[in-house]
Amino acid sequence: MELLDRYRHVLDRLNTACAAAGRAREDVTLIAVSKLHPAEEVAVVAAAGQVDFGENYVQEALQKREDLAASAGSSTLAAGIRWHMIGHVQSRKAAQVGGAFALIHTLDSRKLADGLEKRMSGAEERQPVLFEINIASEPQKSGLMPADLPALADYVLENCPHLDIQGLMCLPPVFDAGDAARPHFAHLRQLRDSLQKHTGLPLPTLSMGMSGDFEAAVAEGATLVRIGTDIFGPRSAKTPPLA
Ligand SMILES: *Cc1c(COP(=O)(O)O)cnc(C)c1O
Repeated sequence: MELLDRYRHVLDRLNTACAAAGRAREDVTLIAVSKLHPAEEVAVVAAAGQVDFGENYVQEALQKREDLAASAGSSTLAAGIRWHMIGHVQSRKAAQVGGAFALIHTLDSRKLADGLEKRMSGAEERQPVLFEINIASEPQKSGLMPADLPALADYVLENCPHLDIQGLMCLPPVFDAGDAARPHFAHLRQLRDSLQKHTGLPLPTLSMGMSGDFEAAVAEGATLVRIGTDIFGPRSAKTPPLA
């Protein structure tokens, strides 16, 4: 299948998933995950109307944006794209990431929060962020343990006035497994509901669901789904660029 056929097929599936869940299509935003795919493919999908794109690696993301802005045909398109940082961000990269993405999905430590706050401190606008939750409490995995969420949220509210907490994100241990991930998505929604009560913040955003399981995520209340493979095809097996 061609890139645009795959993209349209994903849009069809998303329409179907929303209808099946009794949800309005405009309540769920598709993020096209373009990591390890070139700027030219981003341009093709953006030209078809896609606005939100996700990247995992800071260097790759910033380079791709430069490439897009510099290429004659796509500079206007490039200006209309909303970029999402969905990969783990080391705190020493905070200065490159703060202010450079419409939404950072992966805030998971005080150190990163401090780095982002420092980067944004002179800015007029605030940086929208999500907390990344290690939803199944897996050792070795990035993301915040569910039990540590209220304390980090309190810390950010008290110390990081330039960070705008919008919700939660997760990457369940099982993916490409359809309904197997569904209990994890439900769990993320419950954590969001508790954090709403704890903080009084609206927290409208739930970033969950990938190529293999986004229908289940939509059924459990996802507002952002992050889809790479089913749009852009398989990624090269080579080691990704260093974050
Ligand atoms: C790569 C990635 C995705 C996209 O995964 P696919 O299975 O290719 O759709 C979504 N979210 C995160 C955090 C990722 O790293």
